[in-house]
Amino acid sequence: MTEMSTGISTAGVRATRHTTFSGVTLCMAATFLLSMAAQAGEVSIHTDFDGGSLGQVERVSETHFRCKVKGEVDQDGRNRQASWYYFRVDGAKGQSLTLDMIDLPGEYNYRPVAGAITARTLPFYSEDQKTWKQVEATEFLTDVPLLRLRLTPHAQRIWIAHTPPYTIRDLTRLLSEFNNHSALRQQTIGRSVGGRDLVLLTITDERVSQSKKKVIWLMFRQHAWESGSSWTGEGALRFLLSSDPIAKQIRRETIFKIFPMSDPDGVARGGVRFNAHGYDLNRNWDAVDDEKMPEIAAQRKAVLEWVDAGNHVDIFLSLHNTETSEYVEGPPDAGERYRSLMTRFSQLLSDSKRFAPTKSAQFTAVSTTVDKPGRMNVYQGLYRDRKLPAFLIEQMIVKHPELGRQPTTEDRRQFGVDLVRAMWRAVKIG
Ligand SMILES: [Zn+2]
Repeated sequence: MTEMSTGISTAGVRATRHTTFSGVTLCMAATFLLSMAAQAGEVSIHTDFDGGSLGQVERVSETHFRCKVKGEVDQDGRNRQASWYYFRVDGAKGQSLTLDMIDLPGEYNYRPVAGAITARTLPFYSEDQKTWKQVEATEFLTDVPLLRLRLTPHAQRIWIAHTPPYTIRDLTRLLSEFNNHSALRQQTIGRSVGGRDLVLLTITDERVSQSKKKVIWLMFRQHAWESGSSWTGEGALRFLLSSDPIAKQIRRETIFKIFPMSDPDGVARGGVRFNAHGYDLNRNWDAVDDEKMPEIAAQRKAVLEWVDAGNHVDIFLSLHNTETSEYVEGPPDAGERYRSLMTRFSQLLSDSKRFAPTKSAQFTAVSTTVDKPGRMNVYQGLYRDRKLPAFLIEQMIVKHPELGRQPTTEDRRQFGVDLVRAMWRAVKIG
C-alpha cells in the first residue's frame, strides 16, 4: 500500500517530499485538480499507487514536463540517492510527450556522485503494469544533468519506471499462487517501522529428513529501488516449487531460506535505499537497533537463532542491482574454505548467459569512508557474528554485454533459475 499520494496535475501542483500535514493538503488539492484535468482530456501525471514515486513536476507545455526525481537521504541527511521513479501518465494516447528527468546528482558513501540515472539507464514503460518495454527515444544532457524521454503512447494511460517495478502486491500474488504447496512455508519474523510483515520463506521437501540437507539462504530488497533482484527471486521461487526433476531433487537435498522483501516500507512508498527512519539496511549490521531498524534486527535474529539452534548455513547471498557493475563479493578476512566456495560459485554462475561479471569475485573490507559504526553490510555482519559464508551479488541494469539489451523481467526470472542451480551445485560439491 502506498502511504502517500502524490498525484500531480497539469496545473503544476507540487508534489511533497515528505509526509507532512501540508503535504496531505497538497495531495488533496492535486487529486481535485487532477480530476478537472482528466475531464478536460489533458495530460496528467500521478504516483498515488504501490511503489509510485516522483518529486516536483513542472509543466513546460501541454505535453512537455520537467520531472524531479525524488531521491532519498539517510538518517543524517547524507548520501542522497535518486535512483527510483515510477509514475503514471493519463491522457497520453497519441500525444507526443517529452519528459525531462532532473535533480539526479547525489552522494554515495559520503562522496558526491553525478547520479545513478544516466544516458545508459533507459527507463521502461507499460500499458498494463505487467508487460514492460524499453523507452527507446532518449537523450542525456550531461551538463544539467537531464534524461529526456520522448514517446507517443498508443494507450490513454501508461506507466513509466526506472526499471520494471516489483511491488509488495507482486510478491503477495506470487505467494498466493503457491499457498497450498507442501514444500513452501511462510513465517512472519517481525514488523517493519511502518508495521508491515517481515517474511521468511522456507522451501524444502519436508518428507526428507533435514539432517543431511544443505542450507542456502537468500535475501532480497535491502534496497527498495532494486526491483530487478525481486524478478530474479520470483524466477528462483517458481523454479524451486516447480515439477522440474532438478527442482524436485534440489528440494530433497536442500533447504532454501528466503527473505523476499527486506524493506517493505521502502518498496511500498517507492523508496530508494533507506528504511522509514533513514537507515541503509545493507549497512548498520554493526549498529543494529530494534527501534531504528527493526528490519535488520528481525532478520539478523532469525539467522542467528537458526545457527545457534545447531543448524548450519552453507551459503548466504544478498541480491542487489547497480547501474553498470556485475560481481560477487564476500567478507574481507574470509578463510580458505569460503574463498574456495566463492570461487566455485562464481565459476558456476559464469556458465549463465545472464551473468557477465565486470570484475572478478572479491573480498572487501568494511567501508572506512566514515570513522563510525554503521557502515558494515550484511555479509560482513554475518561473517563477523557467526563466520557464515555470506556473500553479495550485484547485477547491472544497463545494457548487458551478454544479452545485448537492458535486462527484461524475463531475463531476470531466467537468471533466478541459473542462480538456484549454481548455488545448489556449489554447496553440493563443497
Ligand atoms: Zn543494493
